[in-house]
Amino acid sequence: MTRTTVALVALWSNAASADMGDHHGSLVANLMHLVSQPDHVAMIAAAAILGGVGAVVMRRRARAARRMFGKQ
Ligand SMILES: [Zn+2]
Repeated sequence: MTRTTVALVALWSNAASADMGDHHGSLVANLMHLVSQPDHVAMIAAAAILGGVGAVVMRRRARAARRMFGKQ
């Protein structure tokens, strides 16, 4: 789950990049760039919130399914 969220954040923040910054540098340079550009930070925050909401929804659905099948 955490792995998926991280992958989604990476994909999304790249796809949604509005600035013309260099995205082909080293991993560290890219990370520094991602956390220093407000547009990327905004997308990362949005993705993190969506990931958190998704985790809560999944947990609720799992609990509802357990109740449905009679296991406490
Ligand atoms: Zn950028």
